[in-house]
Amino acid sequence: MGGNLYNAAMQQNTPQLPAITLEMLSELMQSWGIPKYRAKQILQWRNKGILNPALMLNIPGELKERLSSSLICEPLQMVQRQCSADGTRKYLFMLTSGRLKGKMVESVYIPEEKRGTVCVSSQVGCVLDCPFCYTGTQGFEGNLTAGEIVAQILAVKHDLLTEPLPPELHALVTHVVYMGMGEPLANEPGVHESLQILMDSDGLNLSRRRITVSTSGLVPQIDRLSEVAPVNLAISLHAAENQLRDELVPINRKHPLQELRQCLNRYSLGKQRHITLEYVMLDGVNDRNKDIELLAGFVNSDRERVNLISFNPYPGNSYEGSSTQRMNEFAKRLISKGIRATVRRSRGQDIMAACGQLKAESKPDNRES
Ligand code: SAH
Ligand code: SF4
Repeated sequence: MGGNLYNAAMQQNTPQLPAITLEMLSELMQSWGIPKYRAKQILQWRNKGILNPALMLNIPGELKERLSSSLICEPLQMVQRQCSADGTRKYLFMLTSGRLKGKMVESVYIPEEKRGTVCVSSQVGCVLDCPFCYTGTQGFEGNLTAGEIVAQILAVKHDLLTEPLPPELHALVTHVVYMGMGEPLANEPGVHESLQILMDSDGLNLSRRRITVSTSGLVPQIDRLSEVAPVNLAISLHAAENQLRDELVPINRKHPLQELRQCLNRYSLGKQRHITLEYVMLDGVNDRNKDIELLAGFVNSDRERVNLISFNPYPGNSYEGSSTQRMNEFAKRLISKGIRATVRRSRGQDIMAACGQLKAESKPDNRES
C-alpha cells in the first residue's frame, strides 16, 4: 500500500508525453545532452498519435529507452472499440498510471461530411448528479490529467490512421468537444492545460473555434475560461426557470439562472461566434408550451443559439424523451420568436455513444464482454 502511494506520488510529477510542450521537452533534451531538434521530431510523432517511442522511426534507440523510462508516454490503453452503423466510434480507455490507474473513460469519434469530431472525457464519473445523465449516476472518482485528456484525441487519430473509415466518411480530427464523461470546468487544471496543448502550434494546432467546452454552468469557472482560453462554450441549460433547473441541473441551486445570464453576457466571443444552449427534451417535463416562453425570455438571441437534444435513454432511467414531432414543433416556435434553434440528430445511439450515455464500468462484473 505504502509503495503504491509512493509510486502514485512519483507519477504525479512525471511529465506525460501527450501534454508536454516543446519548451519542456527541449529543456529535457538539453539536460540529457541531446540536441534540441530531437524534441521537435518526437512531437511530430506525438501529434500524429504515435506515443510509443519504439515506433518513432527517426529516433535513436538510446533516446527511445530514455523517453520510455523518464516520461509517461502512454497514459491510456485502449480496451474496447465499438463502431456504429453511422461511422461513429466509441472507445473505452483504461488509465495506466497515477491515482486513477485501472479506471476507465470513454471517448467518441463522430464523422460528418466535412468534419471529424472527438468527444473527450474530462473526469472519471461526475460529481454533479443531473438526474437524466448516465455519467451522473456513476458517482465521482477523480479528475483526468491534461495528458490523459489529450491522449484520448491522439489515440483516436492513431486508430483512424491504422483502421480507416470508409472513404465517404471524414477521417481526420478537425474538432474537439469536451462533452464526454465529467464536468470539464470542475477540473480546471487538467482542462486548461489540455486546451493549451490543443491550441499550441507545436501541439495539435487546432484553432479555438474548433474546440467546445460544455458545462452545466459553473459561473466563476466560465469567467476564468473566458480569460484563459475563450473557446466555444456550450451550456447545459435544460430549463429556463429556476425551480425546474434546480431539479434537472442541480448546480443551478448554487448558480441560479440570473447569475448564469450575467456570466454568459460577459463571455468573450469572437466575430460570428455564439454560445450554444443545450436543451435535452424531456416529455412533459421541460417541453411544455410554457417552456417555449421561458426559454425565449432567457435567450440572448444576438449571442446565443439553442440546440434541442433528443433524450438518450439508458438502463434504469426514469425520463421519457419528447417525440420528434414535439421537438420540431418546439424548434419552430422558438424560431418564430427570432431565436436560432436546431434539433440535434443523435449519433451512435446503437452503441450507447450518444450524449449522456457514457458510463465506463470499471468493475469487471458490471461489464458485458
Ligand atoms: N458535464 C458537462 C459535459 C458533459 S455532458 C455538461 O453537463 O455540459 C454533455 C451533454 O450531454 C450535456 O449537455 C448534458 O446535459 C447532455 N446529456 C446528459 N445526459 C443526457 C441524456 N441522457 N440524453 C441526452 N443528453 C444528455
Ligand atoms: Fe455531470 Fe454533465 Fe452529466 Fe450533469 S450532465 S451529471 S454535469 S456529466
